[in-house]
Amino acid sequence: MATSSTLHTRADAIAELQADIKRIARTRNAVILAHNYERPEVQDVADFVGDSLGLSREAAKTDADVIVFCGVHFMAETAVILSPQKTVLLPDLAAGCSLASTIDADDLRRWKAEHPGAVVVAYVNTTAEVKAESDYCCTSGNAVEVVNSIPADQEILFLPDMFLGAHVRRLTGRQNIHVWMGECHVHAGIDPENIRLQRGLHPEAEFLIHPECGCSTSVLEAMSAGDVDPEGVQILSTEGMIKRPAQSPADEFIVATEVGILHRLRRENPSKRFFAANERASCAYMKVTTLPKVRDALLHNQYRITVPPAVADRARLAIERMVAIGGGSAGPALSPVADGIDPGE
Ligand code: SF4
Repeated sequence: MATSSTLHTRADAIAELQADIKRIARTRNAVILAHNYERPEVQDVADFVGDSLGLSREAAKTDADVIVFCGVHFMAETAVILSPQKTVLLPDLAAGCSLASTIDADDLRRWKAEHPGAVVVAYVNTTAEVKAESDYCCTSGNAVEVVNSIPADQEILFLPDMFLGAHVRRLTGRQNIHVWMGECHVHAGIDPENIRLQRGLHPEAEFLIHPECGCSTSVLEAMSAGDVDPEGVQILSTEGMIKRPAQSPADEFIVATEVGILHRLRRENPSKRFFAANERASCAYMKVTTLPKVRDALLHNQYRITVPPAVADRARLAIERMVAIGGGSAGPALSPVADGIDPGE
């Protein structure tokens, strides 16, 4: 069991490392971006904490020469695609994504050959090469809107998230959507049974869903299928999620997403109580990034993420089409519930 002196030593060590990282970052004109699902101490050293599109937007607008991207590989690639002139570093190359790795560019080319003329819609959790083979990108927040913008008689290949695909098929009523059977391993911890259990334990709690990153698209799908009671549910983007507790009369909240976001919710709303739909819903890929690796990334310029220009140009087109349709915008057409909607990546 940790004693107060060992706890003090650990806290001191973390503070020292964070101070070192900030000092080195200043000398290198670097900015540190961290995803909401990163370790708390990594979130605390970052200049900006957010979701994948929020981080990409920060990457695009920063004046820094170097971006240390504390997230997973496909997100760092997206930062490179949107800011090709900047140096983007991923502190650990093992930071992959179980959802993105369910399909590669060869798989997609074969799938397209089986459905000539089909339009390809790819969730943002995909590699740059897969985005380059796609017609549109989408987030969980605008997937329905993107699909609705495609002529009704056109076949669609939707990838790689089977839960988001099933949800989109149900909400659009289209039968001509083929869905890739990919899934994120984290969602397994956030199933309707866990949710019913937690809602039974905390009947006064508001239920917040953060449909970022594939880890809770299964909950969206369960709700549109009627397996989760929509009463008292709020579907929120990161910023909506952080602001909601202060605006709500509720004192307790059950949160369906990867558990990393609880750190920020608790820090920014100290008088409220938060419960994970399942404490085990943790993304191991997000947790490989540690403070020593962030420091080493800055010291040794590692590991630089690059995307070949021809791939980046085609992938950027798919991303720009998504943005042109209203990427990240909130709106009632996007979600299975009418109120409290502010989904987005
Ligand atoms: S939470 Fe799931 S979808 Fe997100 S990075 Fe981790 S494995 Fe990928």
